[in-house]
Amino acid sequence: MGEFDLIRLIRDAAGQPGAGVRCGIGDDAAVLDVPPGKELIVTTDTLHCGVHFPAETAAEDVGYKALAVNLSDLAAMGAEPRWALLSLSLPESDSRWVQRFIGGFGELAAATRVCLVGGDTCAGPLSVTVTAIGLAEPGRAIMRSGARAGDLVVVSGVPGMAGLALQRLNAGLEPDPESSRALFRPVPRIALGIALVGKATACIDISDGLLADLQHVVQASGRGADIELARLPCRPILAGMPAEERWRVQLTGGDDYELCFTLPPDLEHALAGLTARSGPELAVIGCITDQPGVRSLTPAGDFFDTGKAGYEHFL
Ligand code: ADP
Ligand code: MG
Repeated sequence: MGEFDLIRLIRDAAGQPGAGVRCGIGDDAAVLDVPPGKELIVTTDTLHCGVHFPAETAAEDVGYKALAVNLSDLAAMGAEPRWALLSLSLPESDSRWVQRFIGGFGELAAATRVCLVGGDTCAGPLSVTVTAIGLAEPGRAIMRSGARAGDLVVVSGVPGMAGLALQRLNAGLEPDPESSRALFRPVPRIALGIALVGKATACIDISDGLLADLQHVVQASGRGADIELARLPCRPILAGMPAEERWRVQLTGGDDYELCFTLPPDLEHALAGLTARSGPELAVIGCITDQPGVRSLTPAGDFFDTGKAGYEHFL
């Protein structure tokens, strides 16, 4: 198959253009109709084979995750996802691989009503770049910079599960099904992000590790945070680990794609309703302070030092 056969295969798999698509795959560029009174929220993320996913990862999982990590960024802004672009670099023209890849991508696109409207296809090392475009009310997107002293720090889901799966894989072990799902099939918290608009003062999605990403929030906000390790959500597989090992993976393990947000304390009562409406369990794990930096406190009240805060390229 040549480049254009592969594009045709992708276009056929993408199905009918969805809402707002005046022109999708097939012309030099897509033409999108932005509803009046809305603002575009745009993000892009790349997955390189060997850096962001092991070479033996199933094609379906690569396709799913390439879209999921981008929708997670839109979720963190409180945006409603609409459209996506897909840039594929492939070492060979393997139509079977592309078919499976676009199957995984399309599964999440259909579930979130995201329409693939264009992209690029070329020969090169295996790498996938997705650009996701969403909508928000003007001026209402949730930024990293709005956290205030006294706000609660809240996380969705169970931080560290994806990191745990990666640890197992790197050690040549089979991860348990729940952590394996967390790594290969993260659920972008779109409904939660939208429900947080007007409530959360700041929000980020956890891609590099809870501590590293919370540091971005407190830095952007000119604040600090205290985290109580005893309040981190747990699972039996985490509870069975030595405490320090567990805290380390929960604080620094990347790839969770859960949301970490800050909430004024008088809105704590809204958490139960947010879980009921948007799915994931939510846990208050600490609070924002005026003292710069993020401190993690053990149940005994000692400071816990993880060393590295999370994943960072080039370091
Ligand atoms: P150009 O030469 O103008 O860059 P291309 O030949 O790269 O156009 O692409 C032709 C059409 O197919 C364009 O509409 C482009 O957006 C779309 N396209 C190419 N690759 C992909 C892909 N991987 N996924 C979705 N659409 C694609
Ligand atoms: Mg092109």
